Amino acid sequence: MDQNNLIVYLEFEDGRVADVSLELLTKGRVLASRLGVKLEAIVIGDDLTGVEQQVFPYGVDRLYKVSDKRLYPYTSNPHSAVLINLFREIKPQACLMGATCIGRDLGPRVSSCLHSGLTADCTALEIGDHTDPKTGKEYKDLLLQIRPAFGGNIVATIVNPECRPQMATVREGVMKKEVFDPDYKGEVVELDANKYVSDEDFVVEILDRHIEKSKINIKNSPIIVAGGYGVGSKENFQLLHELADTLGAEVGASRAAVDAGFTEHARQIGQTGVTVRPKLYIACGISGQIQHIAGMQDSSIIISINNDPAAPINTIADYVITGNLEEVVPKLIKYYKKNSK
Ligand code: FAD
Repeated sequence: MDQNNLIVYLEFEDGRVADVSLELLTKGRVLASRLGVKLEAIVIGDDLTGVEQQVFPYGVDRLYKVSDKRLYPYTSNPHSAVLINLFREIKPQACLMGATCIGRDLGPRVSSCLHSGLTADCTALEIGDHTDPKTGKEYKDLLLQIRPAFGGNIVATIVNPECRPQMATVREGVMKKEVFDPDYKGEVVELDANKYVSDEDFVVEILDRHIEKSKINIKNSPIIVAGGYGVGSKENFQLLHELADTLGAEVGASRAAVDAGFTEHARQIGQTGVTVRPKLYIACGISGQIQHIAGMQDSSIIISINNDPAAPINTIADYVITGNLEEVVPKLIKYYKKNSK
């Protein structure tokens, strides 16, 4: 088997490669170097001009471009057919995709057709060895697919020893996006779509598309004021908005606060919400369960405001304010305004 490559499926919309794809290329570069294989990427769509300029700095050795009017916008069958047939040809060791609407649709189709297995929503990816506990057989250099399992009670390392490609999806923001070398140059391979898709793959026609863009952008905010169940009500969340406005921050939330209807789902941070890495994270009335921590633990500075001095979030906080947030937050607003003049 060939298997001297690791491939990332790129999402491309409005002339831009999606952030999640660039994050996966960053991680893919590290994994490919560790394995001593090529980092490859594939982009499928209509007008794919400029994709190479966007992805080569991330260390892509080979970019496959499959361009055809019928391949944009994304539909399940044609994109699956391209990947399935190409993977049979190039036999990648591993394939990474974003855990996005597209990746969640495409990944399982490709994986089930190739009988390869797939781990969804990985929070870390590494290369490592594995010994089968039953047979004692040793496997070298597998993709270790790490993610919380059993409701977040354990962090599982999942391996796929025999079948290829080893497939994993990762949500946006979980991996860091970092240019590898601005002058890096790879090779472009243009593929003829007709070789990979057939007319039967185009049974679905998109008649209209509407993309709803959320105005809430917690992912890129340098400061986040996040509220939990301890905030107590929708009205009290206004206090957090006031603090956020004062600091030039965005408001985030725990799932318990979202489930209680205190704020919108788009603000949820954690395993099933957004992953953030702000310079400052102020956690108000958040206990710090693993599923929440998973989405904010890489924040540069964490301040916890909690009336329970033993709240688990305090163990990862740089500063802890023990007290009732209804008293603490107005004081923060007052003294910040007073001292920042
Ligand atoms: P609580 O755990 O109820 O904590 C409230 C905190 O507020 C306590 O520490 C309390 O001491 C403090 N408090 C109370 N009153 C005050 C006050 N007046 N002043 C100051 N402090 C006060 N959770 C997420 O956040 N994000 C996720 O993405 C996520 N995904 C999940 C996925 C799965 C599969 C599962 C099973 C769970 C998930 N959860 C997620 C839920 C998670 O397990 C916790 O239930 C949730 O994070 C708890 O939210 P909380 O800290 O706001 O609430």
